[in-house]
Amino acid sequence: MIVGIASGVTETLLAAAAAAAPHECCGLLLGRPCHVAAVVPARNVAADPARSFEIDPATLLRVHREARGSGQQVVGHYHSHPNGVAEPSKRDAARAVVDGQLWVIIAGGTVTAWHLPPPSPQGEGRFRPLTLVAA
Ligand SMILES: [Zn+2]
Repeated sequence: MIVGIASGVTETLLAAAAAAAPHECCGLLLGRPCHVAAVVPARNVAADPARSFEIDPATLLRVHREARGSGQQVVGHYHSHPNGVAEPSKRDAARAVVDGQLWVIIAGGTVTAWHLPPPSPQGEGRFRPLTLVAA
């Protein structure tokens, strides 16, 4: 599956990850299911922000409310891995639910996208990589 990402968004995410290090940055992705048009940064309110992320619930509520009025959808969220590992961590897998949301992870100077397909006999609860293209 291919996901488009609007011009400038990749740079914004890389800059956010660099600014937050050694903590994880996080935020929400807006657009359509196969196209990220914009991002909204959020405070990482995790107890251990160097190894985990928790999007500020106030931002979550506000962005969902604003999106309903604007015709945009909240299509997923992003966070960074300051350790440079550009794939979902065990911690990410443990909390992931099958809800169709995109997971964008910024690590090691790259931006990667993932989704969690419905459980199947082949790969229960396994993230699948998505291809991000500038669009
Ligand atoms: Zn993670």
